[in-house]
Amino acid sequence: MSQTPPRVKIGIIGGSGLYSPDFLEKVQEYKIYTPYGAPSSDIMIGEIKGVKVAFLPRHGKRHSIPPHMINYRANIWALKEIGVERLISVSAVGSLREDYKPGDFVCTDQFIDMTKRRELTFYDGPVVAHVSMADPFCPELRTLCIASAKSLGITVHEKGTYICIEGPRFSTRAESRLWRSFGADIIGMTLIPEVNLAREARMCFLNIAMVTDYDVWAEKPVTAHEVARVMAENTEKVRRLLVELIPKIPEKRGCQCARYLDEALL
Ligand SMILES: [Zn+2]
Repeated sequence: MSQTPPRVKIGIIGGSGLYSPDFLEKVQEYKIYTPYGAPSSDIMIGEIKGVKVAFLPRHGKRHSIPPHMINYRANIWALKEIGVERLISVSAVGSLREDYKPGDFVCTDQFIDMTKRRELTFYDGPVVAHVSMADPFCPELRTLCIASAKSLGITVHEKGTYICIEGPRFSTRAESRLWRSFGADIIGMTLIPEVNLAREARMCFLNIAMVTDYDVWAEKPVTAHEVARVMAENTEKVRRLLVELIPKIPEKRGCQCARYLDEALL
């Protein structure tokens, strides 16, 4: 393990299925200490076509950390510490609509927070911040992601509202119907507070949501085997998407993402 990590502008947080940065070259691991404790794993830094990229598996390398126990603040802090400005979050999600099918990707553009007991901010006082979240995702990264997915022939939905539940249990049928009536399109357990914290850390944030199955509203029971098959295919597709997308990200940011915090601090 190397001592001092290099500066890296692009970070990836991998979700269920994406635990290893095997799509990167020259990977080295670095232990990063944060005021909030340890991140989900050591940070792995490698390259795609000469572009340095940091990778962190959200649930740990062996999926040992459930959604409600992830140290989100340590994860974002560690990535900020090494210089990450552009954060790509990859998530496995359930679908709340018929036309968002298992195997499809969604470039999330809105969210609804139904979590209950998470550390939602870096600003617990005495410094107070109310950060704007009207448009939570980086428009520049979203445009590049959609174009890259299309160029690879990946089915991608250009918009989607992600409802984040506390978990670790899945929804009841009544809840699943409720989420649909809220206007949510996809459901998962990890977007919050990753996205809030990234904005407080002046990062751009992109969420690539990969549909694994229909949520329970659909009354379409699936086998664990079927879900595992779709997840494996999605993971393969998202590796190709990341390799296509990352070299296209401009060095200089043309978005507002870094500036929201300026208006947020009281
Ligand atoms: Zn941005």
